[in-house]
Amino acid sequence: MKERPIHAPMEQFPTINGELQVGGMPITQLAERVGQTPFYAYDRRLISERIQYLRDALPTALKLHYAIKANPMPAVVQHLATLVDGFDLASAGEMQTALDTTMAAEKISLAGPGKTDRELRQAIAATITINLESVTEMRRAVQIGMALGITPRVAIRVNPDYDLKSSGMKMGGGPKPFGVDAEQVPAMLQEMATMALEFRGFHLFWGSQNLNPEAIMEAHEKTLALALRLSNAAPQQPHHLNIGGGLGIPYFPGEKRLDLRPIGENLERLMATFSKSLPETTLITELGRFIVGEAGLYICRVIDIKESRGERFIVTDGGLHHHLAASGNFGQVIRKNYPVAIANRMDCTEHENVTIVGPLCTPLDLLASKMELPKVEVGDLVAIYQSGAYGLSASPEKFLSHPAASELLL
Ligand SMILES: *Cc1c(COP(=O)(O)O)cnc(C)c1O
Repeated sequence: MKERPIHAPMEQFPTINGELQVGGMPITQLAERVGQTPFYAYDRRLISERIQYLRDALPTALKLHYAIKANPMPAVVQHLATLVDGFDLASAGEMQTALDTTMAAEKISLAGPGKTDRELRQAIAATITINLESVTEMRRAVQIGMALGITPRVAIRVNPDYDLKSSGMKMGGGPKPFGVDAEQVPAMLQEMATMALEFRGFHLFWGSQNLNPEAIMEAHEKTLALALRLSNAAPQQPHHLNIGGGLGIPYFPGEKRLDLRPIGENLERLMATFSKSLPETTLITELGRFIVGEAGLYICRVIDIKESRGERFIVTDGGLHHHLAASGNFGQVIRKNYPVAIANRMDCTEHENVTIVGPLCTPLDLLASKMELPKVEVGDLVAIYQSGAYGLSASPEKFLSHPAASELLL
């Protein structure tokens, strides 16, 4: 018989007396402290440990940036401001959050297709780096810079001319709305040389949520090779090269945690060669979910339990309006279960097969489908792991007008 794949062990949050602990507090006490369910709880110790792991495994010379869109909660961003080397933004809204921290403007960059003139003005006034997504965006930035009397800092976001072997969410190669096709970059650099712009470097983002070390190492090799080629056409050595991130975390049965060591060793080797040609260029990796994803739980409460034609349904007060990704409607092709626990019955050995749903009147509002879980009672707390990234901010909170979820950092 073929063994069914299981979730990678979720051991980041300890259990004491059968209760999951976040930030040293039992989950039932935490729910009282919050005053309501559902809520998201993020653990600052886990975020700090993750940064340390990255620092230990990746080359010392590689700068570490946080992609704020993964989790824009201000307290999380404030915490990370003390731990990472820069922030990458995807909107002017995120820019406000980033500028409220102690992070220097020159270590902040803004990417995203469709930046409005207003957003460009804000970014130029803030003196952060704009990752240009098109030639026309470059021309608008110049005009705005001249009007403001500030020379815009710009980098070119490049749509690579290679495709990746496997896995993850591809965001580069082929026709894409993101970045400038690699083959168009030399002409863009030529035009840029005549403009009042401060050229900072290149941004090569090739994908996200990749769990295949070979694919990641191949991406790094191709990224550095492409950056070397593009730099030949640049007016001076780029100040930086953002090589993207892409590191994934295990969400679904059968997925394993990435071992960063071989990835780090490979990068060390590639960077040694790279710096012979471009000694003044700083390499940056930008990560979102790998930094915060495993440090967060989504907690909701069991409201009702019912049987329907042989299936046991656990109805909770939380659902896709707070956690679209766990419901399987955020880019999943085939719905799979996130890791789930009954947070106040961690030691319970009596299991049952249940489906956990939310309160919304739509069959899409599914948090766990036919999972083996400890025997549940009304009032129990359901915890969904791997919820620190693309949780609340990636969900349609207004859909069906249920109460909002709280967020806290412990
Ligand atoms: C979304 C995004 C990231 C972060 O991706 P993760 O999978 O969360 O690490 C990094 N860079 C850019 C440009 C992005 O759009």
